[in-house]
Amino acid sequence: MAESKDKVIFSAMQVTGKLHLGNYEGALRNWVRLQDEYELYAGIVDLHSLTTTFRDTSELRANIRDAALDYLAAGLDPEKTAIVVQSWVPAHSELHVLLSMITPLGWLERVPTYKEKREQLHIANPSYGLLGYPVLMAADILVYRATDVPVGRDQVAHLELTREIARRFNHLYGETFPEPQALLNEFAVLPGLDNRKMSKSYGNCIYLSDSEEEVRKKVRSMFTDPEKIRKNDPGHPAQCPVQAYHAAYDAEGAAEAAPACEAGTLGCVAHKQQVADLMVQRLTPLWERRAAWAAKPAEVDEVLAEGARRARAKTEETMEMVWRAMKLR
Ligand code: ADP
Repeated sequence: MAESKDKVIFSAMQVTGKLHLGNYEGALRNWVRLQDEYELYAGIVDLHSLTTTFRDTSELRANIRDAALDYLAAGLDPEKTAIVVQSWVPAHSELHVLLSMITPLGWLERVPTYKEKREQLHIANPSYGLLGYPVLMAADILVYRATDVPVGRDQVAHLELTREIARRFNHLYGETFPEPQALLNEFAVLPGLDNRKMSKSYGNCIYLSDSEEEVRKKVRSMFTDPEKIRKNDPGHPAQCPVQAYHAAYDAEGAAEAAPACEAGTLGCVAHKQQVADLMVQRLTPLWERRAAWAAKPAEVDEVLAEGARRARAKTEETMEMVWRAMKLR
């Protein structure tokens, strides 16, 4: 695989809360697959978290460790993948400053998530950092000279801004950054317990760190068709999160369950039991790995220290190229 390791990926998650099943199925699981083929930097982007949680930073450090455990539990192999805490690698911030000089304000004001976040989180006085979030994201990616970025369909627009910033830099100062390509992950968005998108902000999550008992309890409490009151009532599997999970874990089994649910021969209680079993099966290896790493905190520290070392070596090389291109060295 030496030849294909020319391809570099940076991908990351924020640490505003614990990671959930949506994060795993929609992102982490994909990284685990990609780590053999790519030089992979898996970011824990704590600076990004500050855009919304700057008032109370007391939980950030614990969240960073939790995220590291989740990454390792998911199967990221520290021999192959650098797990990088963003604030430990100064080049992220350095490049962010430089890119912020060349990014027109209009580009940022147009980003739909800026408006969405302000509305959702009721932010009356948005900070400079919140508006600049996509520039920091561009810096995160470009500072590794990433060739590819795994994204869901909803994130393609974000990546486009990174590509525009890279083009603008290359145009102004000479070819420095590859324009990173989207590695489109077609995984459908996983619903939460209430059938909205599973998201930290909705509090409808099954967390990777939940125990088997918690997972089973949460699945039992999951929203189902409000019109299917008795077992024999016909259900609407296309709108049911239990069915969505079933499809994610076992497409064949789900194809059999759907008509049975519709016909009223499969009740919600039994269906949930089936899905909980599949979920536990899927999560058991993660729980085992998590417990093994949690038992050796010094080794987790070392994984993060080594990730930062590798990230610093790579990003300092990029910064040398950047300073030179800008004629500042
Ligand atoms: P959250 O919505 O909980 O804040 P993030 O926006 O931080 O999650 O997402 C981190 C990563 O996890 C992204 O790659 C995103 O596409 C993926 N992801 C988040 N929620 C889901 C979900 N419900 N289903 C599939 N993927 C998801």
